[in-house]
Amino acid sequence: MNKEELLEAWKRFTEKNDFRLNPDKEHVDMILDGVLANEKEHGLKLCPCRIRDGTRERDLQLICPCNFKTHETWAEKGQCWCGLFVKR
Ligand code: SF4
Repeated sequence: MNKEELLEAWKRFTEKNDFRLNPDKEHVDMILDGVLANEKEHGLKLCPCRIRDGTRERDLQLICPCNFKTHETWAEKGQCWCGLFVKR
């Protein structure tokens, strides 16, 4: 999957949901690059702004999009940990 395809997939993911992509395109672009770099290096589309511990269990929690509505940042700021998805 290339950058444009991943961006389209994220846009589709936000359709009919109570969140959207961060309107800051540079921020989204940075996260796109990070996720794709992780995929190249680790074989999974891992979150670029959270720490891996090398275990499969942790990696599975870090696949983007993750279960971000459980994050404190969602309750407090209305966004995923990285600020990729934000409340509408
Ligand atoms: S915190 Fe945001 S960028 Fe990171 S995996 Fe979750 S949804 Fe993706």
